[in-house]
Formats: sequence, C-alpha cells, structure tokens
Amino acid sequence: ATPMSIMTATGRGAQAGVLIKNAEALERFAKVDTLIVDKTGTLTVGKPKLVAVLPAAGHDEAEVLRLAASLERGSEHPLADAIVAGAEERGVKLSNAKDFEALTGKGVTGVVEGRAVALGNARLLAELGLDGGQLSETANARRDQGETLMFVVVEGAIAGLVSVADPVKETTPAALEALHALGFRIIMATGDNERTARAVAARLGIDEIRADVLPADKARIIQDLQAAGSKVAMAGDGVNDAPALAQADVGIAMGTGADVAIESAGFTLVKGNLDGIVRARRLSRATMRNIK
Ligand code: ADP
Ligand code: MG
Repeated sequence: ATPMSIMTATGRGAQAGVLIKNAEALERFAKVDTLIVDKTGTLTVGKPKLVAVLPAAGHDEAEVLRLAASLERGSEHPLADAIVAGAEERGVKLSNAKDFEALTGKGVTGVVEGRAVALGNARLLAELGLDGGQLSETANARRDQGETLMFVVVEGAIAGLVSVADPVKETTPAALEALHALGFRIIMATGDNERTARAVAARLGIDEIRADVLPADKARIIQDLQAAGSKVAMAGDGVNDAPALAQADVGIAMGTGADVAIESAGFTLVKGNLDGIVRARRLSRATMRNIK
C-alpha cells in the first residue's frame, strides 16, 4: 500500500477507536480468515463477581469463603479479586496467608490459620489426587449457566466450591454477528473449563472453542492454525495473551487490557470492545484495494 493510503487508514482508524501500530498489520489483516478471541475481558466484561459459596458436608459457608478469600489476597487474578471483593461485601474478616503460591492456569495454594489451603480448578484437584465427588454435579450445573467454579481444598479434603460469574459485554453479541457476516471463522480460547466455555459460546453463536487452555497453549493453537494455512488474528486483553498476540498474523489488544498485551499487538481497540475489528477490516480492505 502507498504511504498515503496507510496514513489515511491510520487516521480513520484512530477516529474510530482503532490504533494501528504499523502498515504491516493493516496489510496483513486484509487476508485474515480466522479470528481467535480470548473469553475473559475480551468477550466478557472481565470483572467477575462472586455468585455462590457452596460448602461440602461438614463445612460452613463463612469458613469456606474466609479461607478462600484470605488466600486469594495474594493473587492478582481477576477471579481472586472477585472472591476477595465478595468476602468483603459479605463482611467476612480475612486472615493473613503464608507460603502463598500461584499455579498458572490452575489456582493458588498457601497456609491460612495454620491450615493448608488450595483453591482452583479441576486440573488443580487432579494434581492433588482428589476428585470433586458429589460437588462435581453441582459444579457442572452451574458451569452450564456460564459460571466459573473453583474448588476449595483444606488439609487435603474438599471443603467447598466458590462460583464466579462474568457477564458478556453489552457490545459483544452485535460485534460477533458483524464479524461472522464478514466471513471470519471465530474461535473462542479460554483457560476456563470446557463446560463453562461451551455455555458462553452457545449464547454468542460461536461454534468453535478451545477450553482449558494454558497461557502457553494459546500461541501454539495459533501456530497450528497457521501451519494448516490459516491467516490468524488474535484478540485478547491479558498478560497471558501477549505471546499469542505476538504469534498471530495480527494481534488485536483491548485498550482496557494489560500494557504488555497492547505492546505485543498490531491493533489496539481503544474502547475495549470488538466493534473496532469490523472497522479495521474495512480500512484494511480499502487500503489494499487502493494499491492495485
Ligand atoms: P483465563 O484468563 O482464560 O481465565 P488463566 O490461565 O488465567 O486463564 O486461568 C485459567 C484457570 O485457572 C481459571 O479459570 C481458574 O480455574 C484457574 N485459576 C487461575 N488463577 C486462579 C486463582 N488465582 N484462583 C483460582 N483459580 C485460578
Ligand atoms: Mg482475558
């Protein structure tokens, strides 16, 4: 494309809330056929809220929430913020945790009130040699509603579940419809559980998902699609998404997201919603038409 047409597109993009970092991203985007979309913070608001605390037999709600929230104070994960905020709203007094450790893509562990506490997903449970037992059914019913369930393990036994929900952004359904109409193959990628992912995807008319994805897997999923001949754009907001944004033919960061995501991307959507991708596609196609 000519420098002039790129300048025009960049200016129009900026007006419409799409920051275009370089000409290459703009040119490559005209050829993109597959769009990978992170769930949390990209499709959803990204501010999950605590919606339920479900104690196992022999435990009570207040204890489960206190131990969980005390431990999560050490984590910066949005799920941790939801649990801590939920405990504070409910007037729970938190304790100090010791030996805090974050296990990427799984959860957190530490010692609270002298007891070993672990909090996280099914992968974490499996690692501890536990299975959800009866609580798994409760968990699944809630996952089918799009909630994210975490198990609370105290001294090696399951003490309960905490459930968190993150609403879909108001702008997401219409943006996805427009992107589908433009002919993109759309794939949702998430570290969340398959059932939760499926429930959210179904509501949005997304038919392909990659769930239980570890941060490092997102980049690999893109590599595999590229190896199969696809031109891939990735939209994400998190620190975790940065390698995938860099791997994609075009990385698209949410302006509301982490700085490292924005640095790794070719486009930034200032308003933090997917509408900007529709604009970017039009600008990109128009620019490429001008060169011919
Ligand atoms: P994503 O940003 O897509 O949710 P992550 O890798 O950050 O991906 O998290 C994947 C999963 O790991 C979460 O859905 C949750 O089950 C678990 N997890 C990660 N961090 C925490 C945490 N601080 N507390 C509880 N669970 C966690
Ligand atoms: Mg995210």
